Amino acid sequence: MDENCIFCKIIRGDFNTEFVYENEHLVVFRDINPKAPVHLLVVPRVHVPSLNELDDKDLLGELMLGVKEAAKKVGLKSYRTQINTGKEAGQEVFHLHIHVLGK
Ligand code: 5GP
Ligand code: ZN
Repeated sequence: MDENCIFCKIIRGDFNTEFVYENEHLVVFRDINPKAPVHLLVVPRVHVPSLNELDDKDLLGELMLGVKEAAKKVGLKSYRTQINTGKEAGQEVFHLHIHVLGK
């Protein structure tokens, strides 16, 4: 838990954000500023600033499985995924997340 991190606060339940999917490793919620008709964020429960700081193969695998589970849950058969890593690549929230975009 990072007290200054918006996603840590969301995971803690501070804003009553609806999780479209969750398990012991991750939560999935809708992006507040969607760039596609369906725009989900797959977010590990642990605070990891970006992909560059994550070496845990199990968690990396869980995150990809989480993408599939969340897509299935909302009925997305076809979707794009995106991970912005670093400010210059457009990362704004420094708690690792995978964007899932579909229609
Ligand atoms: P990044 O640019 O870091 O890859 O993506 C961060 C994403 O988080 C953006 O698409 C932004 O709209 C979303 N976001 C930022 N703050 C919040 C929030 O408080 N709630 C939700 N649901 N999404 C957020
Ligand atoms: Zn965090």
